[in-house]
Amino acid sequence: MTIDHNNYPSNQLPLQNITATTSNPLILNDLISLPYLNEPSILTNLSLRHKEEKPYTMCGEIVLAFNPYKRLPIYTEEVQSACNSKYIFNPSSTSSPPPPHVYYTSSKAYSSLMSTKKNQSILVTGESGSGKTETVKILMSHLSCINKGSKENDVVNKILDSNPLLESFGNSKTVRNDNSSRFGKYTQLQFNVDGVLVGSFMGVYLLEKSRVCGVGGGERGYHFFYQVLGAEEEVKNNMGLEGMSGGDFSYVGSEGVGQIIEGETDAEKWIRTREALLNVGIGGEMLGEFLKTIGVVMHLGNVEFESDGGEGSKVSSDLGRLASLMEVEEEVLREKVTFRTMTARNDSYKVPLSPQAAKEGVDAFAKELYAKQFLWLVSKINEATSAGQEHGRTGVIGLLDIFGFESFKVNRFEQLCINWCNEKLQQKFTVDVFRSVVQEYESEGIPLASIQFEDNVDVINLIEGRMGAISILNEECVRPKGSDESFVSKLYAMNKTESDKGSTSVLIQNKRFHSLQFSIQHYAGAVVYDAADFVRKNADTIPVDLVELSRTSFPQIANAFPPAPAPSSTSSRRGSSLIAGTVWSKFRTQLSDLMTDLAKTNTRYIRCIKPNTQKLPHLVDNESTIEQLRCAGVVAAVTISRAAFPNRLHIEEVEAKFTCLGGGGGKVSDLLVAVLGDLSGFEIGSTRVYFRSGVLEKLEDLRLTR
Ligand code: ATP
Ligand code: MG
Repeated sequence: MTIDHNNYPSNQLPLQNITATTSNPLILNDLISLPYLNEPSILTNLSLRHKEEKPYTMCGEIVLAFNPYKRLPIYTEEVQSACNSKYIFNPSSTSSPPPPHVYYTSSKAYSSLMSTKKNQSILVTGESGSGKTETVKILMSHLSCINKGSKENDVVNKILDSNPLLESFGNSKTVRNDNSSRFGKYTQLQFNVDGVLVGSFMGVYLLEKSRVCGVGGGERGYHFFYQVLGAEEEVKNNMGLEGMSGGDFSYVGSEGVGQIIEGETDAEKWIRTREALLNVGIGGEMLGEFLKTIGVVMHLGNVEFESDGGEGSKVSSDLGRLASLMEVEEEVLREKVTFRTMTARNDSYKVPLSPQAAKEGVDAFAKELYAKQFLWLVSKINEATSAGQEHGRTGVIGLLDIFGFESFKVNRFEQLCINWCNEKLQQKFTVDVFRSVVQEYESEGIPLASIQFEDNVDVINLIEGRMGAISILNEECVRPKGSDESFVSKLYAMNKTESDKGSTSVLIQNKRFHSLQFSIQHYAGAVVYDAADFVRKNADTIPVDLVELSRTSFPQIANAFPPAPAPSSTSSRRGSSLIAGTVWSKFRTQLSDLMTDLAKTNTRYIRCIKPNTQKLPHLVDNESTIEQLRCAGVVAAVTISRAAFPNRLHIEEVEAKFTCLGGGGGKVSDLLVAVLGDLSGFEIGSTRVYFRSGVLEKLEDLRLTR
């Protein structure tokens, strides 16, 4: 990840000043209790913990989860039950509290669901490879067995099995992670009144469709392709894969074949995938048609075109196998892939496609067909696992496993989608952290000073506001001559004004090196985007001729493209239906539904951190770790928590440490006034003393120089 270091907020230290040293002997369970709060001390604490195989650290109510890159013996039933019993900090207790764990988060969500009957959610974020998906599985298996109920509960297995099943279809090997989720997922675990898990329902976001058509070096396509190529002959025959291997498919290639992912071969994984499919009710003819559809996707990638000597193209590969697999006439297929039907008023005519346009059309269709199968699979899993009110469903705990903030050398349409989603989640995060700080002060009985924190409303407006990126791009997608260049120039033209707060606009003016570039000042840093292909990617058009053809294919394919409502005759209505169908419009609806859902829950946060890129245990790369802590809003969260009172200590600790300075008559306030001269440097709550900036340092100095 590359974040612009010249733009760090003033409360953060430049990276070059940060090294994790062992000079700070404190290894604390909770960052909030660090007496000196700054990035180096946070990093030191976290590094030492990571090296001691303590992957989890609290930051107030937030859990930071370092990817241990090693199976640790901390997921046993004993640990689970220890975490289920209430964890209360008791300074006078001689037994040390159990170390932080994500089980606390699940356990607290569970007990809070049971006691308040209010829905709960746990948001797990972090960059690729940081451990989000593993963490969600850890939470799920914990939540599924807190109360097993009296009967044999087979829905639990279905729910847990649905994870690897979905992973085989939506995960892939990338340079960052051998099992990288290429979609976002929100799983709602449903509990009955007794607290027994009775069902689950999931929503998925933004599957990376482009991966269907192949990937760059060192990566693989979706696991599923490799798995079915290692399947039994009967399955391969049904899918039209007999006698073929990865190298025979342009979407697959030979490079990724035969790799061991997470200790298993693709053939071994296939056996589990097949079982999981049966487990959610996909078997017999249904399974056959589903698999055959994937066979069709794979064969679509092998359709090749060459020039027909004029403006059009002809198919230069064998279409026979694909046509028979799709159960359509070969000649009809040939025509549908090489021509586009255009309609004007009541007339329709056929336009020949260039070889490149024809190829792009087939790829677009293949991607959409795969994406539709992914959604179908999700709907089948939901059918098999979700419990209605009649099953006694009374409350849910939602688990969000979603892509973290991204900033690469070149940032494209996908990065803006992801970063927009992260801005929305960050907004909620800041408000929630702020709220919990207010609650802490209230419960300690401390008068509230006003707390300043940076909000990110400006960035969200720039993206989804009335003159924002989404509406401008959507308009470009409907305009006959809409282009990426005019999207960028309109974005700048319409967002010239300085923001309301008098700071410079979050649309950065001085970082444009060509007409397709634009830069946004995100909460986690400035990101330069390249708008090439924004219009095409957002419009995401699927060739009508192939869609029409699909309706004459077998039911699994035909049902993937249900007929759209009759097209309206007026062009403005046509325009608005096109706008509603863009990737951003659809994602905006999904995101706003998600945010509405989350708003009804009590939310907890787990921030996953990838300590190094070599995927090794015990190793911490300081620079990238600090960057992630910033992206995760951890530094901001601590800053908010400590805005008025940067340092805090339990009253007992203050007495133990500073009674030696003399003065006072036993009461901690007398002690501190005697040493400091007056009351202005601190506030005393019911359990802790809160120090203003510099005061604790002064006390420590006095103690050391005494
Ligand atoms: P992506 O965004 O690419 O999907 P992710 O954040 O979901 O990434 P995971 O797939 O959960 O990352 O984790 C990556 C790898 O790290 C895992 O395959 C596993 O090898 C290791 N890992 C993650 N969490 C743990 C853990 N708690 N214990 C042991 N290994 C872990
Ligand atoms: Mg994942």
